[in-house]
Amino acid sequence: MSPEQLELEASLQNSSTPIERVNAQNALAEYLRLIDLERSLTLAQTAEKLAQSEGYSAGLARALRAQARDYRMMGDHGNALQLATNALREFEVLEDQQQQGLTLQIIGAIYLDLGDYGRSLMMHLSALAKLESSGDLLNRAVSLVQIGMVSSSNGDSAQAIRYYQQAIEQYAALGENQRQAVAYNSCCVDYSRLGNYEQAQQYGEKAEQLFTQAGDSYGTAVARSSLGEVALACQDYTRAVASFEQALSLFQQWNRESTYEVVETRLNLGRSYYHLKQYDQAAIQAQKALDNAVAQKMQSIAMQAHYLLAQIREQESDLVAALTHLKRYSELREGLVNQSNQRDIRNLQIIHETQQALAESERQKKLREMDRQKYERLAQIKDEFLNHATHDIKNPLSVIHLSLFMLESLLLPDQEKARDYLNHIRDAGDKIKQLVRDILDLAQLESSTTIYSEPVVLYPWFHALIQSFRTLAEAKQIMLTCSVQPPDLIVRGNKQRFGQALENLLSNAIKYTPNGGHVRLSATQLDSQIQIQVIDDGIGIPLNAIPHLFDRFYRVNNHQVEGTGLGLSIVKLAVEQHGGTVEVSSEPGKGTTFTICLSEK
Ligand code: ATP
Ligand code: MG
Repeated sequence: MSPEQLELEASLQNSSTPIERVNAQNALAEYLRLIDLERSLTLAQTAEKLAQSEGYSAGLARALRAQARDYRMMGDHGNALQLATNALREFEVLEDQQQQGLTLQIIGAIYLDLGDYGRSLMMHLSALAKLESSGDLLNRAVSLVQIGMVSSSNGDSAQAIRYYQQAIEQYAALGENQRQAVAYNSCCVDYSRLGNYEQAQQYGEKAEQLFTQAGDSYGTAVARSSLGEVALACQDYTRAVASFEQALSLFQQWNRESTYEVVETRLNLGRSYYHLKQYDQAAIQAQKALDNAVAQKMQSIAMQAHYLLAQIREQESDLVAALTHLKRYSELREGLVNQSNQRDIRNLQIIHETQQALAESERQKKLREMDRQKYERLAQIKDEFLNHATHDIKNPLSVIHLSLFMLESLLLPDQEKARDYLNHIRDAGDKIKQLVRDILDLAQLESSTTIYSEPVVLYPWFHALIQSFRTLAEAKQIMLTCSVQPPDLIVRGNKQRFGQALENLLSNAIKYTPNGGHVRLSATQLDSQIQIQVIDDGIGIPLNAIPHLFDRFYRVNNHQVEGTGLGLSIVKLAVEQHGGTVEVSSEPGKGTTFTICLSEK
């Protein structure tokens, strides 16, 4: 284990808070990607779950991105794209430009893997903008190189070079020599593609020089090999052989005979010998390149090696051997074409699916937003309407009431019929008045979330309430009682609001209890709760009505009693504003009990 890994493992062990844990898991996951991909993925997945349950968005976003990188390494581009996109969303919500930029770089790299140069370029360009505005200059330069790579893959070497050059400048300003060398080397390759061998040579030499200064002999070898390719392209085969030989001997120190760079260099060395007509040497290198390519499943190099061997054998007049190689060459070529066609199709599918999923979630988001706006607008219209309408009704109602009173006083004692009509009008007016009062109560309850509360001594208050219902109860010979246990019980609440609730319950109890019945208001202390009940032995409520009882305008229509159906919604709102609950139990024909529970504060 490297010291760095030891340190990361230790900080995971020592993490004491969930947030520290998520951070440590993410950091270790990042580190382990090249060492233990499977564990890296597991760690990132665990981090995702923990961050999710802790509501730690930054940690969640990092965990998603770490998984995206892992899946990309595994070649699962579909999953990688999905996860990276989710990570990007999270970073967008967090408004973290730098992390958005780094995530866009990954998405761009995935699109490049998938061969979608257009989208890849788009992602890298927006990564560049984000990193620029966040002031992360190093990663800005990385983005410049990546844009160069996409352009180069897309066959636009001139554009690639422009971006590499900007990256070179940025790296130079930051003193990043090794990275600068990589960019120089890339420039060399693209200049050579453009046929500008002079520039290619200069950039390749610069790369070599910087790699050497940085003590990076692998990099030096890569640059040497690029210079060999320039010589090969210029048909200066002697110089090409020299460069490739030097590159190979540098690679040898690394004991990595079978990396792509080494195998490709060897093939190029074979080609150079072939052009110098040194067929023995050419054949040795081509065969070695072929063996390594086959072992490492580098099919494209194997194909090229067969072709080179066929050419060599033809020159040596070994036509049978030449034919065998040619046959292998065309088999491999066909396989590669098929493979790449299939891969193209599969890649297009992944891109298509991802785009669809993105468009769908975008659509859902818009719909939700529209719903929300519509709902808010409706709620606003409703409030405005209620306020205006109720006040507009209230004033003319008072005029009607007063005029009725005046009219009545003008009537002669024998005008009984007229008196009847006046009474009808008054009753109807009373009903509207009650409705308006209920609506205003509800609107008021809804519009305020916090309420003023004070300690209320229950016993005297309950007595006063009962007293105000006395006349109503006596008209139906209903016995109205109240009890408070213990007698000095106090609750915290808003007298007016809570009074509305109790008045509605008492009014219901009297309304829905036949003549000669009983209604009782009681309060009892139960542990840390106070239970307030309104109990009657009235007509009761059918079972199927219970779930709707607290809905606005809901009424049970098996009785002749007048009402608006708003009373119980007012009760519920008022009780909930006090942090309490209200429940009902009832038996048709036997009676009803409403129970309010308040926790003591
Ligand atoms: P108002 O808005 O004038 O109070 P309401 O009494 O009809 O009208 P709610 O208080 O919301 O409206 O009650 C809804 C329905 O519940 C009533 O119509 C009634 O059928 C039933 N109900 C309420 N309390 C009782 C009770 N104590 N006994 C029997 N039924 C009841
Ligand atoms: Mg009522």
